[in-house]
Amino acid sequence: MVLEAEGLTKHFPIRQGPVRRRGREALTRRVRSVQAVDDVSLTLRRGRVTALVGESGSGKSTVARLLAQLYPRTAGDIRLHGESVTVKGGRKFRAYCRQVQMIFQDPFASLNPVHTVRYHLTRALKIHGNAGKGDAELEQALNGLLERVQLTPPDRYVDKFPHELSGGQRQRVAIARALGADPEALLADEPVSMLDVSIRLGVLNLLRDLKERLHLAILYITHDIASARYFADDTLVMYAGRMVEGGDSETVTQRPAHPYTQLLIDSAPDPDRLLTDGAGSGTTPRDAGGGEPPSLIDPPPGCRFHPRCPSAMERCKTQSPPRFDVSDGAGHWAACWLYDTDVTAEAAVIAEEIAEVSR
Ligand code: SF4
Repeated sequence: MVLEAEGLTKHFPIRQGPVRRRGREALTRRVRSVQAVDDVSLTLRRGRVTALVGESGSGKSTVARLLAQLYPRTAGDIRLHGESVTVKGGRKFRAYCRQVQMIFQDPFASLNPVHTVRYHLTRALKIHGNAGKGDAELEQALNGLLERVQLTPPDRYVDKFPHELSGGQRQRVAIARALGADPEALLADEPVSMLDVSIRLGVLNLLRDLKERLHLAILYITHDIASARYFADDTLVMYAGRMVEGGDSETVTQRPAHPYTQLLIDSAPDPDRLLTDGAGSGTTPRDAGGGEPPSLIDPPPGCRFHPRCPSAMERCKTQSPPRFDVSDGAGHWAACWLYDTDVTAEAAVIAEEIAEVSR
């Protein structure tokens, strides 16, 4: 295990102001908060890709930014090799920032347009103490990084500016910059969603190759559950700031247990389904809420998915479900009352119906 998060929570305050307090003018006052991430736990292991899947606004990118220490967390614990990381600026914190690197969604925005590839990679190598001694060693390290991300021959790319590269090449430079820190974990926030479809596979294959050769732990954030199945060893599904299902990718994508995961899979483009039921209207038969995600300022009580869930029961409206083991695969779990072992007759019938549809 490399990186572990437990009970990770992030609430963004909504402030209003200016307000007058005892004759003095205060700038703002906190009125409410956006509950972007709530009690999220996950583990990243060496040599494995973990996909974090969910629709826009589900809190996936916030989880990545919390793990990268770009946002302070409201609650929860983050551990690297079992040791909590708390003090910003301390020795442990600096080691954490070296070992956990982030790759952003937009490769053009993440590179400085007025600097060359050489500048970006040299800076990463120097900051993290991997530049070696002297120009020859630095040049060797630069070439090694570019070769590792398959930008060869290095001479052709090292003195180019970001605008002289294609989107896929820019993302490879961003990956090389992250590798300049010699990390153990990569947090890839939708790394291919802004690339042309034709080059997405190449970047995913590069990340998989790096995972195997460098034994990296990778968090792959995506809204595309089909790519999670192709690329990731494990898959976690997030809805409205909470984890709702997890397990190995094959099991989660082939035998989804949570009604939201089933909805995500139903929503993925499928030419066969388009021909048979005319899907593509944006709302699938399993979405009882018209496709609207809930407000995270005032999320629904109980299970946050209950306004959209076709299987919702009375208890779902008031009680938040914990994780339940799903009996069809080792490590497969779902946060859904349908899998409560103390199951009611009503839930047993619905769970059986869902299992039947998924087969
Ligand atoms: Fe649906 Fe209830 Fe399960 Fe939530 S807990 S997904 S509302 S059945």
